[in-house]
Amino acid sequence: MTAKKSSHRPNESVYQRLGLRTIVNASGPSTRLTGGIMRPEVAEAMAEASQWCVDLAELQGRASEILAEATGAEAAYVTAGASAALMLASAACLAGLDPAKMNRLPDTTGMANEVVMARSHRNMYDHAVAQAGARLIEVGIPDRFSGAGVRDAQVWEYDAAITDKTAAILWVAQAHSEPTLPEIVAVAKRRGVPVIVDAAGQLPPAENLKKFVAQGADLVAFSGGKAIGGPQASGILAGRRDLIQSAALQQLDHDTYFEQWSPPASLFDKSKLVGFPASGIGRASKCGKEEIVGLLTALKFFLEENTEERHRRLLALCQEVANGLKGLKGATVNLVDKKYKGAPAVELIVDEDALGFSARDLVKRLQDGNPSVHANHARVRDGMVVFGPTCMKPGDPAIVVERVRAELKAK
Ligand SMILES: *Cc1c(COP(=O)(O)O)cnc(C)c1O
Repeated sequence: MTAKKSSHRPNESVYQRLGLRTIVNASGPSTRLTGGIMRPEVAEAMAEASQWCVDLAELQGRASEILAEATGAEAAYVTAGASAALMLASAACLAGLDPAKMNRLPDTTGMANEVVMARSHRNMYDHAVAQAGARLIEVGIPDRFSGAGVRDAQVWEYDAAITDKTAAILWVAQAHSEPTLPEIVAVAKRRGVPVIVDAAGQLPPAENLKKFVAQGADLVAFSGGKAIGGPQASGILAGRRDLIQSAALQQLDHDTYFEQWSPPASLFDKSKLVGFPASGIGRASKCGKEEIVGLLTALKFFLEENTEERHRRLLALCQEVANGLKGLKGATVNLVDKKYKGAPAVELIVDEDALGFSARDLVKRLQDGNPSVHANHARVRDGMVVFGPTCMKPGDPAIVVERVRAELKAK
């Protein structure tokens, strides 16, 4: 591209031109903090993608081939995030390949519209599954979390909740999730119900791209904007060919004649379809060519990056933070490894009595200060502020150290 004549200084960022500050993201790739930092190669691929038009279904068809290989699934689809993937997964299980049902969603009157899930798996992202028109049916009393007992949902409780109204089972992947996915798949297969897996944050390790499909999940959702390092608004839905086909039908733009439509064979079997919906429920979570190309490019780097190299790079950032925070009065610093999603991190234990403010207060002070530093607040209940390296740039550790030291001195 040719250099533009501009009214701004060359090293001003687009955010400065908008009159906005940037932040130091010492937390992680949260949506609230605009995800992570993309590799320049990924940003360049997105800019390049923006300079041509292609047939969107053909682009998704090629993405399906690439993602099917990466996940071991029959087919896959690039979505506008894991949440969008869950909504499309739900829509696919509700409507199948029936265009009349697709056109009715989220109205599911008279359809099998129940999605069974463990009460302990409930979270704010399951909104996406309900959004397509499903009703969530909770099973199990997870008293292991309330401290009153030892149990979580049992396989027989799922079995008892499955009826002819059941459209799917939703299983949320976490290290502590019970029952296990193979146990759920066994009952689901016996009862002929598909299993949707929310694996949004289960990368790394890269092996997890294949794990849930290999364990028998029918549809699996991943975030593209978390560890993969793709665009913030990208995700992957991988799974059974017929269900991916339904998801794609409910998301793509079909303002054309059915007879005129020549879809890519990697994604669609036109001979199995009687028609397509006008504009499906997925239209509200559109995924553009830039996101699709960005996600595919980021995934390539994610799969190629040497795990040890990545670990060394992240550890060096943490060491810089930890060394800078040694010897503080009122706070103790620990460099920990493999504790937070397999990555290194820095824990700062805040002595509230000595400082007169809590770990949560410190998080807020850092965030409200200048430059604004966002730490991970997941452990503030334990009196701890955590600094994670995955979204830090070189130079950020020094800013973190300076800001923490200033806050502790200014107490
Ligand atoms: C992050 C996350 C999501 C949402 O993913 P997006 O890609 O931001 O849409 C859904 N479920 C879980 C468990 C997550 O951690």
